[in-house]
Amino acid sequence: MTAKLIKGTEIQKEILEEIGKEVKEIKEKHNVVPGLVTILVGESPASISYVTLKIKTANALGFKEIQENQPDDISEADLLALIDKYNKDESINGILVQLPLPKHIDDKKVLNAIDPDKDVDGFHPVNVGRLMIGGSEVKFPPCTPYGIQEMIVRAGVETKGAEVVVVGRSNIVGKPIANMMVQKGRGANATVTIVHTGTQDLASHCKRADILIVAAGVPELVKPEWIKPGSCVIDVGVNRVGEKISEKTGKKIAILKGDVDFDKAKEIAGYITPVPGGVGPMTITMLMLNTLKSLKFKLGISS
Ligand code: NAP
Repeated sequence: MTAKLIKGTEIQKEILEEIGKEVKEIKEKHNVVPGLVTILVGESPASISYVTLKIKTANALGFKEIQENQPDDISEADLLALIDKYNKDESINGILVQLPLPKHIDDKKVLNAIDPDKDVDGFHPVNVGRLMIGGSEVKFPPCTPYGIQEMIVRAGVETKGAEVVVVGRSNIVGKPIANMMVQKGRGANATVTIVHTGTQDLASHCKRADILIVAAGVPELVKPEWIKPGSCVIDVGVNRVGEKISEKTGKKIAILKGDVDFDKAKEIAGYITPVPGGVGPMTITMLMLNTLKSLKFKLGISS
């Protein structure tokens, strides 16, 4: 293997330790801790497992954590009322609504009801606008792109002047990460191209990328010959391609593959993220960081 592995699990540990330390300092000085409410509607096993992990992480960091588990048939009005309650709750700094929501609920309406100053997922149009403006306007970058940028910075990859190619234009990954990389500032200042299903000759764009960020949701879409030697490859894709028995637990688990042919790409790239254990752990980490930041904004603590 020639590429340096960028391990999300290791960077996660580093950042969570930094957050934990700051939480203690703020508690000692201001007698307050970050407050996060997680709102889960229904009983989808995937959503339950995501929320459980978020709750566990928040508790381990010493946050105040409130779990709001609501039935599948909750009305949109009741859900909006719940959000309003936590918008007004002074002890809550972050409101997270686990998606997807049941079909009878308009998720845009729900996300837009969250106070933008508690929108730690960064999906509210006000925060999307702040991200677009950049600089000191930015409050809560959406968690997956925020994690991607932090991984690139902590791996020591130069972004200034780099050719960045982003595969995918979703509102949660592709568009925000492209927007972040193009801004002036730390971990950015790059020349950015976004490619998608309407792009002619995907390969030619990928081939000139110093930093290739792939968020398409197509297993092994990016072929090894599309990778520029020595480049940094960030694979956001998480694709279930089968099942296997876990050696640790003896239980059935999903076989996951990224959007990049990892085994071959790692012989060409200079840096690469694995799947799993790459971008995945960073998303929850940055949610915790955004919640801490929300409290710091409220207390007027900079940095
Ligand atoms: P999405 O909303 O489905 O968007 C996928 C994007 O990729 C679309 O813009 C689509 O183009 C583009 N695309 C799909 N096939 C393509 C192809 N053959 N050639 C060029 N472009 C193609 O997905 P997403 O929410 O951004 O997620 C992408 C992947 O990242 C998924 O595997 C998801 O599970 C994973 N993910 C991981 C995390 C994490 O924490 N690790 C977080 C979020 C997402 P069009 O717009 O033209 O359709």
